Amino acid sequence: MFFFASFAALRETFMVPVNPVNPVKKGLDMFRIGFGYDVHRLVEGRPLILGGVEIPYAFGLEGHSDADVLTHAVIDAIIGALGAGDIGRHFPDTDPAYKGVSSLSMLGTVMDMVKGDGYRLNNLDTTITAQAPKLAPHLSNMRGRLSEILEASIGQINIKATTSEGLGFCGKREGMEAFAVVSLVKAKTQGVNK
Ligand code: MG
Repeated sequence: MFFFASFAALRETFMVPVNPVNPVKKGLDMFRIGFGYDVHRLVEGRPLILGGVEIPYAFGLEGHSDADVLTHAVIDAIIGALGAGDIGRHFPDTDPAYKGVSSLSMLGTVMDMVKGDGYRLNNLDTTITAQAPKLAPHLSNMRGRLSEILEASIGQINIKATTSEGLGFCGKREGMEAFAVVSLVKAKTQGVNK
């Protein structure tokens, strides 16, 4: 017969935590790195918004918010760098508050989390996979929008666009996907300011 001093002790002995609390003490690390990925379906009758920029195209991305797949990947990367879960935990797609909302406003909320934890953006690198339309003419606008929200210079933000050579759901123009890697640095670190 076993006896446990508390329910917490019993739980610790027998249960693996399903959603463990972030074990990193906030703000202790000099650098944090995060990775984000997102995918949305292309449909008729929706605007195409990438990196906060509306791009002329016959199709747009389907989603609860404005379905900005690039910004969602960036948000997930930052939340990942903070060890704070994922975008769905902070902005549930069942919450009417986020219906049709600009993803840039969600990114702003996430930047508040970054600053609250004592960090700032070091750099961000991203890739969008889309068979069409041509995104190259819009990349600098996207960089500008993201850099404003992320309180960073253009040089700290990189956005790449690629096709998937006609392969898979991106190649068939059924959807788009985006990948993002972000590094955060302690806000008061000297010598790495850009
Ligand atoms: Mg999304």
